[in-house]
Amino acid sequence: MKKTFLGILASCAVLFASCAYESDRKPCSVSFFAMDTYMTVTAYGKNAESALNDVSEKIIALEKMWSATDENSEVYAINNSGGKTVPVSKETEALIEYALEISEATDGALNITLYPVLKAWGFTTGEYRVPSDDEIAALLENTGCEKVRLDSGSVTIPEGMQLDLGAVGKGYAGDIAVSILKERGVNSALLDLGGNIQAIGSKPDGTPWRVGLRNPFDGGSLAMLEVSDCAVITSGGYERYFTDENGSTYCHILDPENGRPAESGLASATIIGSKGRLCDGLSTAVFVMGQEKAEQFWRGYGGFEMVLVTKGGEVYITEGIEESFTLNGEYPDTRVNVIR
Ligand code: AMP
Ligand code: MG
Repeated sequence: MKKTFLGILASCAVLFASCAYESDRKPCSVSFFAMDTYMTVTAYGKNAESALNDVSEKIIALEKMWSATDENSEVYAINNSGGKTVPVSKETEALIEYALEISEATDGALNITLYPVLKAWGFTTGEYRVPSDDEIAALLENTGCEKVRLDSGSVTIPEGMQLDLGAVGKGYAGDIAVSILKERGVNSALLDLGGNIQAIGSKPDGTPWRVGLRNPFDGGSLAMLEVSDCAVITSGGYERYFTDENGSTYCHILDPENGRPAESGLASATIIGSKGRLCDGLSTAVFVMGQEKAEQFWRGYGGFEMVLVTKGGEVYITEGIEESFTLNGEYPDTRVNVIR
């Protein structure tokens, strides 16, 4: 969650929501930079303007708690505690608790203890390199969600371990933002938290929100999903990666089993469900699992839908979104398989 100068400027400068005018049908929106990405939240209704200002402030405050690089953050304190117990806010406790739950449910595919391994690959700084097998093996010794101790109001991790909440934080922040908006009586809003989409209700005219799904190969829009009241969150190898001198590419999502960029055959994984935290955690985990394991997981765990795009360009969607998924006409040759 490194912040660029431009980002700091943007988060300071664009804090205030702008509204067309106060009417249920006119949009009010706020854009800001947080969690290493641009975010835009659009809401409708009487209280939208003040609620949006609270939302942007809250998300920026959450970033200050969860950033692994900000020396004043709670995560930084945990990561530099030398094995001592660190007091944390209720939001951080809840986020870590949830991440540990998803880690267990996904058989460890989601793993919030990989920060030192991500650092070794250069994903935290942009100074990319391919670490040796020995270096990775040594770093993996200090990983493992089962070693994270969570008590009421505090977290303890072994010396040498470091957490990275990047795979779940934005989804959780989205859920908190949705609660703020709903508490203020907003019942129609679209949150775009750097490509993590969360919708409250439907559009003011009662029709569903139309969410574009990115084509992982060319950045175009691969398909459109019609949704109401849910989150649509994608993890993709294209979001951050590097290429070495031999032309091999390495993406920012690691397989916790071997500490190497996940090579599961997927180019992207999109999860659709009622909560941002679930969708964010699962999008990362499903990307690690690959198509076959993801299908089994979907059948067993349930409670969400997904769109998988394989590196070969095939698309897999789960049956619950068959009616709301429309492939972009620009890709007539793309094969869409329905998982039942
Ligand atoms: P997302 O975009 O939600 O899939 O999150 C990806 C980010 O989560 C990466 O940039 C890393 O900071 C972190 N990460 C990478 N691999 C994993 C993993 N297997 N489990 C949890 N976090 C991960
Ligand atoms: Mg995620």
